[in-house]
Amino acid sequence: MEINIDKYIAEQPALEDIKNQKPTFWVNPYKVAENEIWNHEELGLADIEAAEADLERYAPMIAKLFPETAATDGIIESELEKLDKMQAEIEKNHEFHGHLYMKMDSDLPVVGSIKARGGIYEVLKHAEDIALQEGLLKSKEDDYTKLVTPEAKKLFSQYKVQVGSTGNLGISIGVTAAALGFNAIVHMSYDAKQWKKDLLREKGAKVIEYDTDFNIALKKGRAESDADPKSYFVDDVKSRILFLGYATSALRVKKQFEKQGIKVDKDHPVFVYSPAGVGGSSGGTLFGMKAVFGEAARVFLIQPTHCPSIPLGMVTGLNNDVSVMDIGLDGKTEADGLACPSPSTFSGDYMKPMLDGEFTVRDGALFDYLRELHSSEDMMIEPSSCATFEGPIKLFENKYAKQFMKDNGLDKIQDNIIHLTWATGGSMVPDEINQQNLKTHLDD
Ligand SMILES: *Cc1c(COP(=O)(O)O)cnc(C)c1O
Repeated sequence: MEINIDKYIAEQPALEDIKNQKPTFWVNPYKVAENEIWNHEELGLADIEAAEADLERYAPMIAKLFPETAATDGIIESELEKLDKMQAEIEKNHEFHGHLYMKMDSDLPVVGSIKARGGIYEVLKHAEDIALQEGLLKSKEDDYTKLVTPEAKKLFSQYKVQVGSTGNLGISIGVTAAALGFNAIVHMSYDAKQWKKDLLREKGAKVIEYDTDFNIALKKGRAESDADPKSYFVDDVKSRILFLGYATSALRVKKQFEKQGIKVDKDHPVFVYSPAGVGGSSGGTLFGMKAVFGEAARVFLIQPTHCPSIPLGMVTGLNNDVSVMDIGLDGKTEADGLACPSPSTFSGDYMKPMLDGEFTVRDGALFDYLRELHSSEDMMIEPSSCATFEGPIKLFENKYAKQFMKDNGLDKIQDNIIHLTWATGGSMVPDEINQQNLKTHLDD
């Protein structure tokens, strides 16, 4: 299918850059008035709170299943860090206002990426459903550590859990499902990094490799699972459970802001920058932030210049039925976590009324940011995660972003902005890959 987006360029000039693979900022023209957003959304704060209550109920089983979470009593959470040194570094070369923070989901236990939030949640919820149905749990008040016993493993071993992934979602689902005793099968696209496949196999999951992109790996995995009544498919582009699991982060961030004495309100807004693939974890995160912080949150996605699938899906209204290949792009990026040529319809529908805009970033910039973070803060995250820095760095430079700030009266309070960059993955990256990443320089 060939799609011509030229007819939208007059109204949305950033689409010209998107078409030409130039880094830019696309303002979401479909955002509705703040007080109308929730009229358009089927899920809301109450659903996020229900997911949080589920996770609290699962905490004892998580602590038993993954002893590395015992110290936090089975609550899987990451730190909120202030990046003063990185900010000072940025200020040397760029106009910058406000305060730079990072949410360290790169350090989330067990999985080492943002996918811990949604992925572990969905697998445990599925395990809970089976356990209730089969009488292993008598009720939701029962002792959930019963799900981590040889008896439970025997029960779960009769079932399969499958997922399609470019890497991190596969790790989250594969590791959790295998640990519980399920037959875990991960369908991986060609972008998937070798170390992620090795890790999964070591943890007892079966990895099926495709020489195709994520769209196709996802479709094949889904079809294989759907044909088997004892198989459950975790669907990155459709799952409300995953989405709500990601959204719980906002409740945790709110507590962290309070604990650190960080004031967030309409005049001290939080700008959230979420690196995006299909929009699942990224969209879920932004959805949660908007539900919890309301008009005090401004929410942005970041995608590679080669793979700006989310604006494309929204502009054409085709969502999951359109691919960046349809406008002549190749979808190829070093940011394996963002290499998804077609966006999620489910997430796109939630994002459309609330998203402020999207930044697109060159692959080369990801590695520059990685070096900057490493040299200033002595931190390492994976290249996909580094996309987040494009937001605060380009917000005061890109002409469309500047216009957006002005149009929304945000230029007047720019010194108060809390820039919340989101580190989406990193702690499981093998050291030799980190060393290679530090040495990678790309022109494109
Ligand atoms: C999954 C992931 C993202 C976001 O991708 P979505 O498809 O939008 O969920 C970003 N960075 C990393 C490292 C990821 O694993």
